Amino acid sequence: MFPLEQGSGALNVFEEMESEVRSYIRSFPAVFRKASGYRLWDTDGKEYIDFFSGAGALNYGHNPTDMKRKLIDYLQEDGISHSLDMATEAKERFLQRFRDAILKPRGLSYKVMFPGPTGTNAVESALKLARKATGRQTVIGFTNAFHGMTLGALAVTGNKFKRKGAGVPLHHAVTFPYDGYMGPNVNTLTYIENFLKDSGSGISLPAAVILETLQGEGGLNAASEPWLRGLAELCRRYGMLLIVDDIQMGCGRTGPFFSFEPFGLKPDIVCLSKSIGGYGLPMALTLFKPELDLWSPGEHNGTFRGNNLAFVTAAEALRHWENGEFEADISRKAKQLRNALNIIASRYPALQAEVRGRGLMQGIAFEAGIAERISQEAFKRGLVIETSGTDSEVIKAMPPLIIDSEGLSEGLRILDDSVKAAAGSMEAAVIQ
Ligand SMILES: *Cc1c(COP(=O)(O)O)cnc(C)c1O
Repeated sequence: MFPLEQGSGALNVFEEMESEVRSYIRSFPAVFRKASGYRLWDTDGKEYIDFFSGAGALNYGHNPTDMKRKLIDYLQEDGISHSLDMATEAKERFLQRFRDAILKPRGLSYKVMFPGPTGTNAVESALKLARKATGRQTVIGFTNAFHGMTLGALAVTGNKFKRKGAGVPLHHAVTFPYDGYMGPNVNTLTYIENFLKDSGSGISLPAAVILETLQGEGGLNAASEPWLRGLAELCRRYGMLLIVDDIQMGCGRTGPFFSFEPFGLKPDIVCLSKSIGGYGLPMALTLFKPELDLWSPGEHNGTFRGNNLAFVTAAEALRHWENGEFEADISRKAKQLRNALNIIASRYPALQAEVRGRGLMQGIAFEAGIAERISQEAFKRGLVIETSGTDSEVIKAMPPLIIDSEGLSEGLRILDDSVKAAAGSMEAAVIQ
């Protein structure tokens, strides 16, 4: 396969040929060969437990058997691979199952749009549609939000470094403080409303508000139920559309299929990608209320909207949602994860360790510098786990949703050891 020498030469071709822009390869410096379920193997045969899940694109694990079988059969039968937005049997099956397993049982009547196959494509189409529907230009985004790397999505993204990469001014967006950003005693909705109602605030009425219910890249900040409900109400009062970016938190990451379900929200527009394809195959959806379907044919377009291989695995993935068992199982494992993280965090009060998140998206925030070291220590010990937050201050446990309780325990044991190795010495230094 790869003509590899052991050890130091392993990443030569990547260093020689690939742009400096590469990033995850630096956190996880191995050449990977195989993966199954929640495990990965590199070309040296070393095994890793996956607490990263392709940044949320592998909620159903690596190479899930049922989806793989469907995909192989489809390829064997010369099923359509690429189809732009023409009708295909694979897409038909996906749409039917999405209607029957996801939308109908939740009382949702969204129209389904297939933008380009990545998350940022879904966000761009959502922003365009919101502006078209309201005739307004500004969109409210939040501190520490992450919505993707194209210009529209960057404009509503918080991270300074990523924004700067745009190289041009990022217009028609305004950033407001997310829930909790101004401390526990400030309701940031009141702050936002002051701007909206005051004709002297310098802010014209926005077309929409875009948010994640739990900020995956921005440090696992969670919005509370009252805040979310209040935000939906604010949107209604000021004629702004509510866009939930469920690209990372959807598809069961926090438990239910949509992250906003427990809060009784019915967003006007929903963005999905990452795990919607089921197998790690590129696919994205923009969902919106039928009355917002104001597009003219072809007004938003894209060559790879018809990734039929993803439709095949996506339809199969939705079988997990035909009854409540999968969600209940995620919730059990989420408790196991919470308990373990609480125990780990309780050992490091001097480092202000704080457990954050929900579902199978939880982590521990530390003082700056520690989480990155934990990730490195974990990788050495055979656990793939990344950090979150502007200063990479949160170690973020994000195992595939299909992980069994033994796998979860095994990963958590490695995490515990890694925290001891990385934080223990720091803490000793702090206490002295
Ligand atoms: C990953 C992500 C995106 C961007 O998706 P890409 O496929 O990388 O373009 C947008 N929003 C959220 C919340 C994400 O996690």
